[in-house]
Amino acid sequence: MVIESSEAERISQGDAAERINLHSVFCGFCGYNLKHGAVIGRCTECGRAYNARPMVMKGIFQPHAHSFPLVWLLQTCVALPMGIWIILGAVSPVNDWLLILGTITAWLGLMSGATAIRRLRLFIRAVRVHYRVEREEDE
Ligand SMILES: [Zn+2]
Repeated sequence: MVIESSEAERISQGDAAERINLHSVFCGFCGYNLKHGAVIGRCTECGRAYNARPMVMKGIFQPHAHSFPLVWLLQTCVALPMGIWIILGAVSPVNDWLLILGTITAWLGLMSGATAIRRLRLFIRAVRVHYRVEREEDE
């Protein structure tokens, strides 16, 4: 009998859904303790899906998964003003190559800024969850 990989995945997922978390694992979004809950399921507090299988750990709080996005913030603080400065210097007299260079630099700065904001939000959420997990471990 040949079992296709999707079939095997479905069987193992179904199997894991029936298993129970024997140790404390915490929801990655709200920090709720999922101990005694299904290995794969939805957080009973915030409703987010999670998978606590050891090789997956999706939606599960992991203490060092999100670090402060210092490099992204620095990159934004350098590239964005530099790009704008190059563009302003290339306007009169008009210098096509400097305009292109300035636009690319400013664009990189904007993209770094977007990444920095996204990672900063993840970092702030991880800190919040971390405090909740710490409080619960003290009890
Ligand atoms: Zn949750």
